[in-house]
Amino acid sequence: MSVTAEEVAATRDWLGQYGPDERGGMTRLLFTREWLDAQLALKQRFEDLGMSAAFDEVGNLIATYPGTDGTGEVIATGSHVDTVVQGGKLDGALGIFGGYLAVKDLIETYGAPRKSLRIISMAEEEGSRFPFVFWGSKNLVGTVPASDLKGVADAEGVPFTEALTESGFGLRTSAKSGLDDVKAFVELHIEQGNTLEMEGKTVGVVNAIAGQRRYNITLSGQANHAGTTRMCYRHDVIQVFAEIVAGSIAKANVEGDPLVLTFGHIEVTPNTVNVVPGHAMFTMDCRHTDKETLVRFSEEIEADMARIAAEHGVGIEIDRWMDEDPVPMDTELVSLIEETCAERGANYRVMHSGAGHDSQVIAPHVPTGMLFVPSIGGVSHNPAEDTDPQELAEGIDALAAVLHKLAY
Ligand SMILES: [Zn+2]
Repeated sequence: MSVTAEEVAATRDWLGQYGPDERGGMTRLLFTREWLDAQLALKQRFEDLGMSAAFDEVGNLIATYPGTDGTGEVIATGSHVDTVVQGGKLDGALGIFGGYLAVKDLIETYGAPRKSLRIISMAEEEGSRFPFVFWGSKNLVGTVPASDLKGVADAEGVPFTEALTESGFGLRTSAKSGLDDVKAFVELHIEQGNTLEMEGKTVGVVNAIAGQRRYNITLSGQANHAGTTRMCYRHDVIQVFAEIVAGSIAKANVEGDPLVLTFGHIEVTPNTVNVVPGHAMFTMDCRHTDKETLVRFSEEIEADMARIAAEHGVGIEIDRWMDEDPVPMDTELVSLIEETCAERGANYRVMHSGAGHDSQVIAPHVPTGMLFVPSIGGVSHNPAEDTDPQELAEGIDALAAVLHKLAY
C-alpha cells in the first residue's frame, strides 16, 4: 500500500484547478465561486469513493466512510480548503487531497475500516477574505455567535454575513458537528518553514503549536532640529527603538530555540533626514511552545521597553493585542504517530509548529496530531510554495499508516 508521486501530483493539480490567480499562484477565498466549486468537486470525489458527504450549516464539507464495528466511533483527517491571496496549491489543500488519497488507498487495500474514517474539508482558516480566522474549525468545536461577525466585511465591503447567506450557508444552530464521535484527528500539512529541509528530513511529527503574543508599541518623544539639538537633550524615539530591538534580540538569542521574536513593522514620524524623530509605532511578535516561557520572556521585554523609554524621557504605550497560548498535541497520539513513522523507516523528526493551524482549535476538544512535509526553501503563502511530489507521497503514506493503526 502506497500512493505514487504521479497520483499525488495529479490530484494536487486537479484541486488546483479551482481558483488559479491570473497573477500567479492560487486565490481561493471563502464563499467565492471557485471556493464552492472546489468543495463541490471534493464532495463528488468523496462520494465516488463510497463515502457519504454533506455540508454542515457553515460550509464545512464532512465525508465519512462507515466503520464496521457498529460503535459509530470516527477517526478523522482534513484541513482547510481556502487559500491566502496568491498562495500555493498545498497550504490546507494537502490535508484534504492527501487525506483523500490516504483514505482511498486504505479502502482499496484493506476494505471497510473498523472505525469510521472521516475527511473534513474545512471552510476557512486563513482570514484572507475577511478579517476573521478559523471559521471552519471554530464551528466544529462550538458556535460562532452573530455578534462576532458584526461589522466584518471583505476588502470590497461585502459583509461576512451576506457572503455567508449568498453562498447558501449560515450560522451553526445544530447541536451536532462534524467532530461528533471523532476519537482522533490527524492533520497533514506543509511545514511552511525550512527545518525539515535543512535537516534533510521528509516527515515532521508535530508535538505542539507555538503560542504567540503580538504587540503594537507606540513611542512619543519630541521632534526637533537634527543640527541644533545636542545628543544629551534629545527625546529620540529611534534611539529608544534601537536599544529595545538590539537588547530584545540579544535576549532572544540567549533564550534560544524554539523562541522566536520579530519586530516586523515600524512607522516613524516625521520620517525625514534632518529631524530628530518624535513619534514611532512598531510591532513585536513573540512565539514559544511553552506558555510559562512565553509569558516570562515577553513580560521581561515589556519591562525592558518601559525602562529604556523612561531613560530617554520618551512616553511608551504597550498594547498586547494578541495573546494565544501554545497548544500541545495529544501526547498519546504523538507517540503513536512517531512509532508508526519509526516502524515504516520514515526519515522523520519530532518538531513544533511555529505557524497556526486548524489543529490548534480542534486539539482542546479531540485528541489531535499533525504531520508535516517539507516546504521547498521554507516558502509558503506564495505562488512558489512547493514540495517534491515524492515527499508529499511519503507524508500521505505516513498519514495512511497512522489512520490504519487508529481505524482498522
Ligand atoms: Zn494552512
